[in-house]
Formats: sequence, structure tokens, C-alpha cells
Amino acid sequence: MTTTGEKSFCGIAMSTADYDDTVALRAYVAKHCRHFMNPLERRTTEYSVPLTSDLSHDKAQRLYRFVEQRDGHVDDAETVAAFELSEAAREKNAVERVIRECYNDLPLNRCPRCARLVRTPIAKQCLWCGHDWHSRGEPWHEPKTRSHGC
Ligand SMILES: [Zn+2]
Repeated sequence: MTTTGEKSFCGIAMSTADYDDTVALRAYVAKHCRHFMNPLERRTTEYSVPLTSDLSHDKAQRLYRFVEQRDGHVDDAETVAAFELSEAAREKNAVERVIRECYNDLPLNRCPRCARLVRTPIAKQCLWCGHDWHSRGEPWHEPKTRSHGC
């Protein structure tokens, strides 16, 4: 059972009353800032098995080549070593490093009224206090493909 007022925010459940910025920031970074992770962090947090060059299955080899091309080369030994930690620990370490080293570059989107983090980097409505800062005239307020007479 969920408690009254619990909201879904970046994969976690939290109520406005229980809002914790540290917890919210970690969830937000894990969801929206994965491109700040280094190749090893991405490889060992996005996949539940070590993607190494010696995988025999065709699909696994294709996936390995894809991440090598997307993120850059990662040593098999580093990948295997990273998996000595649990999935949760790998994720926590990567997210905390990104927050520590890239904080000023992160696309953090905070409500102008309550300063809490909102759901996405482009959201213009606060999940927590309800504040809405869409300005009139933005494309999604006046869809050109629909005419509904208002
Ligand atoms: Zn707010």
C-alpha cells in the first residue's frame, strides 16, 4: 500500500512532505544524467552482466561492439573487476561520482518557487508544489496541427 501523497519521481516513491533533496538528486542523476558517466560506469550500470570482448554469443558480441563504439574502449579486466560490487553499489558509486565531479554541468531543473527538483530537465511544472511556469506562446500550448477552436 502506498501512503497518501506518495509520488513517482525518477523511479523512486517520495511524498512532498518527505522530499529529501539528496535522495531526489541521486534518482534524477541516475535517470537523466547517464551521459555524464564514464565508459566503465555506463557499461557496468546499464548491463547486468559484464560485457567483455570474449563473449561468444552473437547478440552479446553485437552489444559489446555497440557500447565500445558508443562510449569508448573499456578493458575487460576493469569491467570484470567492477562486477565484484553489487549492481546497487555500482550504480551508487557512479551517480555519486557524477554529482561530485560534474555538479555544475548537470541539467538540474528546479522549481522556481520551491527549489525542489522536478521530474525532467525540461519540465515546467512542479510535481511537489504544483507550480506551473509554462509561458504562453510556447509551441505545445498552441499546437499548429490541431484546431479545436480555443
Ligand atoms: Zn515547486
